[in-house]
Amino acid sequence: MTMNLAGGCLCGAVRYRLRGAPTHVTHCHCRSCRRASGAAFVTWFTIKASELEWRGEKPTLYRSSAAVSRGFCPHCGTSLTYRHESDPEEIDITAASLDEPERLTPESHCWWEQHLEWGSAAAQGALPVHPRGG
Ligand SMILES: [Zn+2]
Ligand SMILES: [Zn+2]
Repeated sequence: MTMNLAGGCLCGAVRYRLRGAPTHVTHCHCRSCRRASGAAFVTWFTIKASELEWRGEKPTLYRSSAAVSRGFCPHCGTSLTYRHESDPEEIDITAASLDEPERLTPESHCWWEQHLEWGSAAAQGALPVHPRGG
């Protein structure tokens, strides 16, 4: 299945296009993702590396642990990719870097044992919801 998804970083220097369909759409609550993004959790999807095509500049890679490299825009810093050496055929991409992230439906939370209380879906349900700032 092809979804013709595209995305990129905040400044637009790094752009990508995807063939095929994303799998494993998950909210990751691990400390590394939180630190890498500065956010309470990061939503990822998985795609075959062969189905990913970079346009413009490529992300800069940072080795966040022995077997993991994380890619980000060298200009604006947007977190874009996660790759584990044990799965060289697959690459994870930040769902919110898509042009149309609403086309994906997250399936799960992972690394829940490291989640922040205020970063959880349960906490959201107990709080007022602001459509914009507030
Ligand atoms: Zn950028
Ligand atoms: Zn993570």
